[in-house]
Amino acid sequence: MNVYDSARMADVLAGVGYAPVATAAEADLVILNTCHIREKAAEKIYSELGRLRRLKADAKSSRTMILAVAGCVAQAEGAELLARAPFVDIVVGPQAYHRLPELIARVHRAAGAALETDFPAEPKFDALPKPAVEPGAASAFLTIQEGCDKFCTFCVVPYTRGAEYSRPIDDVVREARTYAQQGVGELTLLGQNVNAYAGMSECGAYRGLAGLVRALAEIEGIARIRYTTSHPRDHDEALIRAHADVAQLMPHVHLPIQSGSDRILEAMNRRHRADEYRHLIDRLRAARPDIALSSDFIVGYPGETDRDFAATLNLVEAVGYAQAYSFKYSPRPGTPAACEPNQVPEPVKNERLQALQDLLGRQQQAFNLSMVGRELPVLLESHGRKPGQLLGRSPYMQAVHVEAPDALLRQVVTVRITAAGPNSLAASLPAAVFN
Ligand code: SAH
Ligand code: SF4
Repeated sequence: MNVYDSARMADVLAGVGYAPVATAAEADLVILNTCHIREKAAEKIYSELGRLRRLKADAKSSRTMILAVAGCVAQAEGAELLARAPFVDIVVGPQAYHRLPELIARVHRAAGAALETDFPAEPKFDALPKPAVEPGAASAFLTIQEGCDKFCTFCVVPYTRGAEYSRPIDDVVREARTYAQQGVGELTLLGQNVNAYAGMSECGAYRGLAGLVRALAEIEGIARIRYTTSHPRDHDEALIRAHADVAQLMPHVHLPIQSGSDRILEAMNRRHRADEYRHLIDRLRAARPDIALSSDFIVGYPGETDRDFAATLNLVEAVGYAQAYSFKYSPRPGTPAACEPNQVPEPVKNERLQALQDLLGRQQQAFNLSMVGRELPVLLESHGRKPGQLLGRSPYMQAVHVEAPDALLRQVVTVRITAAGPNSLAASLPAAVFN
């Protein structure tokens, strides 16, 4: 979502004369777009700010450099960030990007640092200019939903991104058409809980994610639709059905569970049990037998025992993931779990993370190997590292390298998978495509 947000900030700033430059040293304005989800991500920005501070001092002799911090660290830390890094000029939360020109003007008027972490009354999406994608892009992100009302006990998102909000259907369809007209063939719909989407149509009725997917599938040029990230509680029957009969909807779902232990799921306030998740996956697989699954896991949540962790490993064994993200629990300021007395010691977290990642890595490798010898449609998106090589994605989100002419960029081409590594596939083109 930060990638999408950065592009929207660039759109807003283009309107007041800014254009991207190659390095921070040449810039009149540097924006750090930040993530607050885990401590490691949040801390990174202070070392980066230290580096930028020196560039800003160097720039001062010839011109001024405005330094801004955007994103969820800006939202969460606000004035605290300015106290810790007083050389920062602008602190702007994710709901106020459309106000950047005004904030920059404030800095130019030498009115001191500008802090904007309110949730403005005017909807951000209405105030943002028409979006542009990078020339030649085959795929685009499209935020359809923001915020979260679920309040999992470990998570900062409800505090930094605010309450759940869904963009109206027509607004999303209009933006999708803009991308299609620019030659984009794949859309990835984004939201903190994208499957909780409930967008108003022009006649005042609400439609869920499945309805939106069906509307987007009608846009000419949109060959592929993906969505991320989903909450198991919001995965309704209509969305499962869409996987069975919307050809553009890709057979890959990112469905985080966090833990396989019911005790931990309850403590996390996830509001479902492990067997309900398993049942949901069975229904998805019944609708679309080749569907590939990915997930997020947290190890070392406060109070997690060896037995709880074993339940997570069991669940992973039972489901079989194509890919997954796993993290050590990171206490976040202001969240209930951070105050729990029974925090898991770091060495235990490390051990569990290693065991889980070994298992998930083996599953990913096996999934990739199962593709060898098969023909898969691949959307060719960019140049590969080697000359003459293009890089694309399989329907299941795997990176695929293939030797192919540039003319095939941005097209969906059926290739034969010849080899599989842990993180990517190699493929060759059927002879017919060359001719
Ligand atoms: N809305 C999604 C998750 C969004 S946050 C969901 O409910 O599934 C992305 C991922 O970051 C989460 O799935 C979780 O695995 C991880 N995460 C969030 N807070 C964390 C924390 N405090 N420590 C470690 N990982 C965390
Ligand atoms: Fe965070 Fe996801 Fe839970 Fe919302 S549902 S609080 S975003 S983990």
